[in-house]
Amino acid sequence: MLHVMNAACRVAALSVSAILSLPAAAQATHGDGKLHIAVIDVAGGQSTLFVSPTGQSLLVDAGWPGNNYRDADRIAAAAKDLGLSRIDTVLLTHYHTDHAGGVPQLVERMPVGTFIDHGVRDVRDAESTSDYDNYLKVLATSKYKRISVKAGDTLPAEGFDGTVLAAAGKVLHDPLPGVGAGPNPLCGKAPAVLNDTEENGDSIALVLRFAGLTIEDGGDLTLDRERLLVCPANKVGKIDLMIVSHHGVDWSSSPVWIDSLAPRVAVMDNGSNKGGSTSVIDTIKASPRLQALYQLHPAPPSSYKNPGGTEQGGPEHNTAAEFIANGAGVDGKRVEITVNPDGSMDVKNQGTGQAKHFAKP
Ligand SMILES: [Zn+2]
Repeated sequence: MLHVMNAACRVAALSVSAILSLPAAAQATHGDGKLHIAVIDVAGGQSTLFVSPTGQSLLVDAGWPGNNYRDADRIAAAAKDLGLSRIDTVLLTHYHTDHAGGVPQLVERMPVGTFIDHGVRDVRDAESTSDYDNYLKVLATSKYKRISVKAGDTLPAEGFDGTVLAAAGKVLHDPLPGVGAGPNPLCGKAPAVLNDTEENGDSIALVLRFAGLTIEDGGDLTLDRERLLVCPANKVGKIDLMIVSHHGVDWSSSPVWIDSLAPRVAVMDNGSNKGGSTSVIDTIKASPRLQALYQLHPAPPSSYKNPGGTEQGGPEHNTAAEFIANGAGVDGKRVEITVNPDGSMDVKNQGTGQAKHFAKP
């Protein structure tokens, strides 16, 4: 195809290059001293955008490929609403299509600085082959820095105080700073679970700290690795905000994991036809410190089975309607969290418009 650049195109190209040449901090207009988090609806995948108190951005996962840029456009809209014109760091928890598949479309919609990942893909997982290859093609353009992390690393994302809990099948060796390592009494009732040797088990899990609070995002980390993080001793400690692992599928989020971390607020990135397993919803709702569980969608109907045949129990298990962002003709709405410097949190359900304040514990 012949490419002829007319005057309008040249102006557009100039303005794009002018934006790209600005330092990152100058472009992120937020940087208001608060930590902002947008849990974006990518229909049962993950894409969670964090903006640091000093204005740097970290996107955990890029959603799905295809769908005519649906997920890239939702990410771009969330970024714009948070005052961003680029994303400094994209962290891929793992290479499954609902997390890494959206990378090629994302980089067409938004300038990106650095990619963080867990390293080489597990070749036993054929499901992730094409999305990993497409990610490598994006990296091969040499426009981006790539950092592969391991468990225990300080999160290499400027502006964030974070630690990698798990990556590439390995978990944190020592407890997080300030977390005691005594025996965890919850472990006695925890059932043994099989090792997941494929991509989900390689998922990055991380914590971020701000204002004395701990925020946890486990990607799709599976039951076996969760158990290693909290048994026989809880190396993570209690947390304030949980992005529920694996969209609420019951291959993650065992009772010992949920009750050991004891989140005060949990956000589940389930889709209308994925995740939201009955046992996971019930476990989180019954967790000892829980003040609110948000869901991006109502759990799938009882006729639906998650991968592995997970039972779905129907609408009576859902969190209260005011904490569900989408459904009944509403789609693509986010759950937005602001962590304030005083340790309080404000959570807004973009679907209902309702906001709720959570005081510092
Ligand atoms: Zn997933």
